[in-house]
Amino acid sequence: MTDPGVGTNGLKGLKVLLNRPEPRKRRAGWAQRKTAKQRRKAKRQRKKARQAALKAQKRQGGRADEWQAKVDAGLPTDAKSYAVYLQGDLWHAIRARVLRRDRGLCAACGGHATLVHHRSYEMLVLQGEDDAPLIALCHPCHRAIHITPRGRKRTPRSTERLLVRMGVSPLK
Ligand SMILES: [Zn+2]
Ligand SMILES: [Zn+2]
Repeated sequence: MTDPGVGTNGLKGLKVLLNRPEPRKRRAGWAQRKTAKQRRKAKRQRKKARQAALKAQKRQGGRADEWQAKVDAGLPTDAKSYAVYLQGDLWHAIRARVLRRDRGLCAACGGHATLVHHRSYEMLVLQGEDDAPLIALCHPCHRAIHITPRGRKRTPRSTERLLVRMGVSPLK
């Protein structure tokens, strides 16, 4: 005769065996897969950040090269960069001249102009020999043509398109 106690215990034991380890194993598997997914996500984000940094560096370098090329080509400035150029006498004279020409009025809204926007960075413009691509603007209009409502920087093309839509005549 079989001992019912052993049989019940055996079945119980089997049930316990069937029930317990499996969910544990599964849970561990999910947890592992989740962390692997998170690791992959983190890796992707690191890669993205690295690429963005590299791109920014390249862009900066490209701008510096472009500026140096202009200086080499005879831009009458000893400014090491565009930022320094904007602090110099040459730009201050050009800026004052354009504000005077536009009677201190914003080309887009007719309000009080406080700055001069470049529609082109050609040599002649930077040298002060062609003021046509320069326009006086107020600060809000200038911000609007360079930055989207969502805070993104517009491309030069998008900026120019918006200027024309705001009533500024297209650049020839
Ligand atoms: Zn304006
Ligand atoms: Zn501008």
